[in-house]
Amino acid sequence: MSDTLEHAAGDSVPELKQRIQELENMLHACRLRLPNAPAEAVRELAESEERFALAVRGTNDGIWDWDLKTDVVYYAPRFKQLLGYTDDEMKNLFSEFESRLHEEDRERILAALKAHVDEQVPYDAEYRLKCKDGDYRWFRARGSALRDAAGHPYRMAGSITDITEQKESIRALAASEERFALAVRGTNDGIWDWDIRSGEVFFSPRWKSMVGYEDDELPDNFTAFEKLLHPDDHDRVMATLNEYLDNQSQRYSVEFRFRHKDGSWRWILARGRALRDANGKPYRMAGSHTDVTERKQDEEELRQARQAAEAANSSKSVFLANMSHEIRTPMNGIIGMSELLLGTGLDSSQREYLEMLKQSADSLLELLNDILDFSKIEAGKMELDSHEFDLNAIVTETVQAMGVRAFQKRLVLLHHISPTIPGRLIGDDGRLRQILINLVGNAIKFTHKGGVTIEVNVESETADLIMLHFKINDTGIGIAGNMHERIFEAFTQAETSTTRRYGGTGLGLAICRDLVDLMHGRIWVESQPDVGSTFHFTAAFGRTSGISIKPMSPRPEPAITAHASMKVLVVEDGHVNQLVSSRMLEKRGHLVTLASNGHEAIDFFKSEPFDVILMDVQMPGMNGLEATAAIRVIEQSTGGHVPIVAMTANAMKGDRELCLTAGMDDYLAKPLRSAELFQTIEKFSVKPRSLESTPLPPPGPEPAWQPPAQSQPPAGVSFDAEAFRESAGDDKLMRKLITIFPEDTQKYLRKAEKALAAGKARPLYEAAHSLKGMLGVYAAPKAFRLASELCEYAHAADLKGAQFMLDQLKKECALVGEALTSYDPVI
Ligand code: ADP
Repeated sequence: MSDTLEHAAGDSVPELKQRIQELENMLHACRLRLPNAPAEAVRELAESEERFALAVRGTNDGIWDWDLKTDVVYYAPRFKQLLGYTDDEMKNLFSEFESRLHEEDRERILAALKAHVDEQVPYDAEYRLKCKDGDYRWFRARGSALRDAAGHPYRMAGSITDITEQKESIRALAASEERFALAVRGTNDGIWDWDIRSGEVFFSPRWKSMVGYEDDELPDNFTAFEKLLHPDDHDRVMATLNEYLDNQSQRYSVEFRFRHKDGSWRWILARGRALRDANGKPYRMAGSHTDVTERKQDEEELRQARQAAEAANSSKSVFLANMSHEIRTPMNGIIGMSELLLGTGLDSSQREYLEMLKQSADSLLELLNDILDFSKIEAGKMELDSHEFDLNAIVTETVQAMGVRAFQKRLVLLHHISPTIPGRLIGDDGRLRQILINLVGNAIKFTHKGGVTIEVNVESETADLIMLHFKINDTGIGIAGNMHERIFEAFTQAETSTTRRYGGTGLGLAICRDLVDLMHGRIWVESQPDVGSTFHFTAAFGRTSGISIKPMSPRPEPAITAHASMKVLVVEDGHVNQLVSSRMLEKRGHLVTLASNGHEAIDFFKSEPFDVILMDVQMPGMNGLEATAAIRVIEQSTGGHVPIVAMTANAMKGDRELCLTAGMDDYLAKPLRSAELFQTIEKFSVKPRSLESTPLPPPGPEPAWQPPAQSQPPAGVSFDAEAFRESAGDDKLMRKLITIFPEDTQKYLRKAEKALAAGKARPLYEAAHSLKGMLGVYAAPKAFRLASELCEYAHAADLKGAQFMLDQLKKECALVGEALTSYDPVI
């Protein structure tokens, strides 16, 4: 019917038809609900229908109304518009809808409509409809059928909503979720998501399978996680987690062991992030688990390999130490015997051969020491000693030791130490000497005319430390530029012909570099072939407190000529060494008793008194350390203390300490050198060094010399009598010191005043420095401190401050002078 109408009435018909239809619908609905509705009710209903239409328009939905009997469907203009059509572009027929349905949806939708109409299954479906532009859009359709009194459906009406965008975003979400899932699967990580408030945790299937569980085999809560943690890791992991949750750390990343279902432990790396509420309180935390067991195993293997390598290296170093011990012992025989033999009547060629033999033995020993040092450094076993020493003495001794060689080559050997360097420093003087001897030795070796100079300056300083800069300059053959770095490598020489012409192994500079490293300094060279070289190195040393200076210590000087005969017990198992040491000692006029092991030594010790015991450390039966301990025990009941000096060929660090803790008094390294041997044992001589030249000290209750007490007088005291006594040692010296005090202080104070008046900082500093040095001896802590401060002001050229300090110092010196005069040393 509507088709014919449309044809007949042209364009206005559809609109008319639409209105009629709408009204018809409404009326029909009214009749259904209110069969005898009064006019008023009908009007109200029409209004409410209008409101409904408005509301529908507001929702943007498209209305449809389908006459089940005729197949005509009324599509509201909005319906058509949703598909891109104007009202007249789409006919009101069911086929118009059906033909636009997406291929894949058609069957399903027709079935759904049928199910609703026939069996009242609710109709709520999603489908795609083809639009005017040819694209498909997604719609959600809902509707319901009207039935007559007999229950037969005759009409069905409803709406469609465009859900294309919604669909699109769901699809995009799914895609991104899929991507995420793929990525996670790709990394093989397990995912967890923890609701902190409820304690519930989502563990991804991979999370669970990582430790061997199926998805449903583990409860989804925090306790499940805790239970799998290794007991030794539990507390650490919880602490890390809490730290992160409490905002004390920025990241949550922790490694722990996790129990696998099969009982083994897996290493897991857990990382995560928390979500926090407005107050910063975390309410949710999610992250991942990565199985790092393999990496951990690799690390462990690496660690073990490194340990094995270190063990191998350290056993190499122990092997070297043992070897050097083994080699040193026969060397002792060779060097000692050749020394003895040289002292006998020889003809000139015998003497020449013998001297060559001894020279070879000496250089072999030097090489042995180098190799030992180098292997110790390599094994990381080289440690520096730290004690007070006199820099000036070290440099002077080096120059003296090297002087003969320089003299033989007609070379000038000079040294200069900057006066700003404190007299005494703290560090390893032995190693410093080694570096200097090496560098000066090289300089002399590679120089044929001209000379060698040694210079020491301050590089930088702090309150506790002073960095010194040493320069050793020569006018020798020089070194080509490309070798300036390489010569510091082990076994490297500048030229291949070096060994042939000059000897050496190329180890010296490598050892110097490592030693300088240990002293927190660096070493380098400036050099030009045929002009000469300057080796520089810096090294840090500690400052002394200054007060413990004891330049007047009456310890016996090394006495080579005047000495008293001593009774010496030599405990030594090797025949050659017995002979060497006893002959050396006997030639010197000492009386020697020989024992070949610890037991014999104790027997001798019990039966007669000795002035000193020379004790080998390694002996069969009872060794030197045990014998010493036994002697010290005996002495506890008999009283007395016999000096015991260790003799050992072991050169590893710690040996010396071992001997001293065992109760020994000193230590001699083998091979024995006569000068060292005499110097060491004769300092224990209780008899005067020469009866003619040195009278016995005046009798007194105190022994001649006691080691000074460790404690220092408080700085506020002017003069500490006890410390002074201890520092000076004997009364005679003390009296002399008291007499010269006023004269000496006056001299330097005047010098300081003169310098200050002339505005000259340099001589002022020198005077203050001298004052400081002497006041230390007098145990005058306050004056000492003032003199030190005067030094500092002078050094900083602050003359005003210096004037103030000098005034104070003058007053303080007067006080000390008075105290000294009233102090009567004759007790
Ligand atoms: P060695 O002296 O035992 O060969 P070093 O490590 O002490 O070993 O020195 C390495 C090399 O550096 C020397 O062989 C020499 O070629 C070069 N060298 C060292 N000091 C000097 C110097 N003062 N003048 C010239 N060459 C030097």
